[in-house]
Amino acid sequence: MKEIAIVGAGPAGMMAALEAVKSGVGVHLFDANPKVGKKLMVTGSGKCNITNLQAGPDSYDTDEPGILASILAQQPPEQFRQKLAEMGIFTSATSDGWVYPLSLAAGNVVQLFEASLLKAGVTFHNAAQITDIHKKNDNFILTHTRHDAPSVFPLLCVSSGGKAMPDLGSDGKLFPVLARIGHHLLPVEPALAPVTFEDKTLRSLDGVRLDVETSLWLGDKCLKRNLGNAIFTQWGMNGPAVMNLSHLLPTKVNGTIQLKIDFLHQYTPQAKAYLAANQDSQECLPVLLGGFLSQKITAALCKKIGMNPEAALEQIKPDEVQKLLNLLCNYRVTPTGTRGFKYAQLSSGGVPLAEVHAETLESKMQNGLYLAGEVLNVMGPCGGYNLQWAFSSGYAAGRAMAKRAA
Ligand SMILES: Cc1cc2nc3c(=O)[nH]c(=O)nc-3n(C[C@H](O)[C@H](O)[C@H](O)COP(=O)(O)OP(=O)(O)OC[C@H]3O[C@@H](n4cnc5c(N)ncnc54)[C@H](O)[C@@H]3O)c2cc1C
Repeated sequence: MKEIAIVGAGPAGMMAALEAVKSGVGVHLFDANPKVGKKLMVTGSGKCNITNLQAGPDSYDTDEPGILASILAQQPPEQFRQKLAEMGIFTSATSDGWVYPLSLAAGNVVQLFEASLLKAGVTFHNAAQITDIHKKNDNFILTHTRHDAPSVFPLLCVSSGGKAMPDLGSDGKLFPVLARIGHHLLPVEPALAPVTFEDKTLRSLDGVRLDVETSLWLGDKCLKRNLGNAIFTQWGMNGPAVMNLSHLLPTKVNGTIQLKIDFLHQYTPQAKAYLAANQDSQECLPVLLGGFLSQKITAALCKKIGMNPEAALEQIKPDEVQKLLNLLCNYRVTPTGTRGFKYAQLSSGGVPLAEVHAETLESKMQNGLYLAGEVLNVMGPCGGYNLQWAFSSGYAAGRAMAKRAA
């Protein structure tokens, strides 16, 4: 029987193994961690936002949208949910398409994957760190830390992830190995990371959470815009509102990029109309705008422009009210950077998608080498898109390996 190896038992590697083993080949799944799916366990704050119904090629940043489209088409979100249900992982979707297991337990998802892999006959080599890969006479020779595991394979899938949260196992140490065997790497940077800044007013909002529109600006040029949840902290901002922009910021910024926060976004006309209709009110602005946003925000911004947050609206001049509204819709802050790989949920860059074949994800540089998941240059926003990519690419690579091995 032919034997194949998969390096990395994350979502991409586990899915590749499940597909490849169907052809009857022996599948060896290696991971540096003592257990499979360590990062999957912590996804979605432990609830596992496993896919998104809106996931399509336009949802991602990559160097090769055509190849991305052909891979996603092999297992679109609804088909993936069907497959999950066959494994006993039943899911539900929020109104905006974010899909979670009914259990809301990432640990259960990992266990059910593990059970399916064992039942299908996949051989696990846990606590097996791959330190090098060589090609000799059409075989891949793996150098690894498990002396009881085989090391020569005609077909190999590398699904070793990126560099985000290295404590969970994916530390990017295989990138230089992939470069040595022929791949040209795109710079690997933190993505979906919290953003840092020093701003007394925003720091006073520590713990406030709400949906805001954010955008990054280089001079007059808007680099990217996002509408999503933001969490204000002592060091800056967390949540999709800034994480989805963070790949555009270096870990330390030189002060040229500005982050714009619009606290009122689509509700601005409503808020203006409400204040205009209540201009003779005895209530103060934080209370009057309390139907739109936390009173803490309005009070902090009033103070920033020298207004008394406790003054009744009837005592405030219309141009001062306008000044506050302008600030609420266009609060500018200069980020100092991101919190880096340690706190990032993803890394951007890695092996260019242009260096693998469409449909199969086989390397154009090494016959018999397949790549899947975050190791490839594909980056989606928060919301289940990145797990969809990891599972879809694992599915495509696993199917292609099965065909090849058979
Ligand atoms: C805190 C957090 C929350 C997240 N939440 C979500 C979410 O809710 N929804 C979503 O879509 N995405 C989420 N993501 C992103 C998602 O987890 C990744 O996109 C996904 O795990 C990538 O899958 P992968 O299989 O490519 O890589 P990984 O999951 O990183 O798996 C790679 C595996 O390879 C192993 N490995 C690495 N190097 C070696 C080596 N040299 N030898 C042997 N083994 C090795 C690692 O131990 C690891 O188990 C989250 C990420 C984080 C960090």
